[in-house]
Amino acid sequence: MKVLVASLYELGHQPLSSLALAGALASAGHETEVFDYDRAGSGDVLSSLQGHDALVISVPMHTASAIALGLIQSAYAQHPELPVALFGLYAVNLAEADLPPTVGLLASGETISDILDWIDGLCRTGAESAGGPRSVTRNREMRALEPPALDRSLLPPLSAYAKLSVGGVERLTGYTEATRGCMHSCSHCPVPTVYQGRIRINKPEWVLADIDQLVSMGAAHITFGDPDFFNAPPHSMRILKAMHATYPDLTFDATIKVEHLLEHSHLLPELAELGCAFIVSAFEHTSDEVLERLRKGHTRSQMAEAVRVCRAVGIELRPSLLPFTPWTTPADLVGLFEFVQDQELISNVDPIQFTIRLLVPAGSLLLEDPQTRALFARSHEDALSYSWKSPWQELDGLQRALADHLPGWLESLETWEIFDQMYRLTCSRLGFVAKDFDYSAELDRSVPKLTESWFCCAEPAETMIIAPVQLPRRAVAL
Ligand code: SF4
Repeated sequence: MKVLVASLYELGHQPLSSLALAGALASAGHETEVFDYDRAGSGDVLSSLQGHDALVISVPMHTASAIALGLIQSAYAQHPELPVALFGLYAVNLAEADLPPTVGLLASGETISDILDWIDGLCRTGAESAGGPRSVTRNREMRALEPPALDRSLLPPLSAYAKLSVGGVERLTGYTEATRGCMHSCSHCPVPTVYQGRIRINKPEWVLADIDQLVSMGAAHITFGDPDFFNAPPHSMRILKAMHATYPDLTFDATIKVEHLLEHSHLLPELAELGCAFIVSAFEHTSDEVLERLRKGHTRSQMAEAVRVCRAVGIELRPSLLPFTPWTTPADLVGLFEFVQDQELISNVDPIQFTIRLLVPAGSLLLEDPQTRALFARSHEDALSYSWKSPWQELDGLQRALADHLPGWLESLETWEIFDQMYRLTCSRLGFVAKDFDYSAELDRSVPKLTESWFCCAEPAETMIIAPVQLPRRAVAL
């Protein structure tokens, strides 16, 4: 069978799950192509469908799901017999969307075996199975499967993807994962809705072979995209030590939550020695009440402590934020800016983080509690998520204003200048007196970062999606 695996948008990195699926399909004897829609320039996924027997679309996050809905309808109009499957974290969220009958599988979790079974079914029954009953699967099989070999030559070169930027110098960057899933249950996060507090370990040999391949393609930096790199510290450290022994100049970044940074702070000196360029940490907020609602497992003071222990070993944190939630008060928002300034994190935070609004997708843990559930309404414009309004109308207006101003600011201002504009706009719209911060410490600071901002659990801003084919813009790239 000839299968097209389409990746739509994966935060600027190569689509690892699509590659793994392609490897499994190839091992099973299927002819497979991977189409990276976001990096294909003027390429057209619809014309690429010609001659394929099935289309499998990766939807690891909300923006990709929104793009997928448009693509599926266009594919159905042009190829009404073509069987379609969707896989990834958000696939099961599409169960209530208005999908064509040709969509036969929505698979989340550990999806490869479900997709192989679906393809086997198509081989047995041919196009007759398109239009049959739709399967919706949440496979939580955590047993280590024999992982498929990855053929990264199926994708555009690393130069087409996000790179590490250090002091104005860019380094080719490869993306891999040491684990999948997460052991925590933050209420706003899509990962626990599928993985329910469990992780799957990728075999170290497999991860290291992937890193070998990435280095041979020119990677000088590796992003570990695990939801949390310290869900399994011995496993992660083992991989890092082996990587560093082979490639002593290779640097890396990873995502680690505040709680883990403090719990495993004894590992931080070694992390720095092994080449850690920076750590992304989901701070989300500085209001302890909002942090409690999001079940983050940390407090405002613990975030400050995490900054301190990381800096003590020379590692800078790059916090991700979720400022706009139904529980955020005007004072909370002003306090968040002041915390970032006070902790000397202005150059560490991508400005778009200050505009992020809570996304409540179908299946969100936030919908489980009846009292919290009452805050959210099914969105009429977006079948994929729930809408909400702040009890402080001025906060909704401020979020839109910040998001609207940001593209212009990004074109002409430095990060600290954007911060200042955002802070002053926030204070003036919310009736607070803005402090005159001293930004001199930020003028010469260069904090390592990726050339595209990293965020996922956010309502996509209009600037990120273009109708009608809905290709994500690079407008948010920093
Ligand atoms: S936000 Fe991070 S730590 Fe929390 S459940 Fe999601 S992946 Fe895990």
